Amino acid sequence: MKLICIGRNYTDHIKELANEKPTDPVVFLKPDTSILLKKQPFFIPDFSEDVHHEVEVLVKINRVGKHIAKKFAHKYYDEIGLGIDFTARDLQAQLKAKGLPWEKAKGFDGAAVVGEWLSKEDFNDINNINFSLHKNDSEVQRGNTSLMLWKIDEIIEYVSKYFTLKIGDIIFTGTPSGVGKVIANDQLKGYIENKQLFSITVK
Ligand code: ZN
Repeated sequence: MKLICIGRNYTDHIKELANEKPTDPVVFLKPDTSILLKKQPFFIPDFSEDVHHEVEVLVKINRVGKHIAKKFAHKYYDEIGLGIDFTARDLQAQLKAKGLPWEKAKGFDGAAVVGEWLSKEDFNDINNINFSLHKNDSEVQRGNTSLMLWKIDEIIEYVSKYFTLKIGDIIFTGTPSGVGKVIANDQLKGYIENKQLFSITVK
């Protein structure tokens, strides 16, 4: 399976990193080995001094598809989740400056937190989902899926032009503002509406 990630999908986060607003979605992949194993702490890798949390809404693909039109995209998932796209920001900045791929900064072991899943049926409108990240019990990130530049079904249409989607693939839909550094002993808890979907200790 693969993790397909969308970058720069919320205007407020584009501003905080002083990035340009893209004309197409920014897409990158993380390998399956980047998934943090259940109930394990997240270990800050020794090659970074500045690992950031990015809380993101996740979509789990439930059928194989290619060239999926937006109007049919909703048939390709029935679970919504929440996760963290951990990013070695210092390494990413070096790679970006050289025009090199970001994989080392985004795809290292443990860099993808995948929380519990909720049924799509639990939501009246998947384009109006509130989510948040709490660090040591204070809220550091808050978003709503209505603020995405590319909505879930548009992301599926776009990425399936390039990649065949397979059962179990997970899409990370981008982070709102409030990304920040994690340090040892931080406790990160992710919520969709008032439901806690993960709790991670940083080591
Ligand atoms: Zn991200």
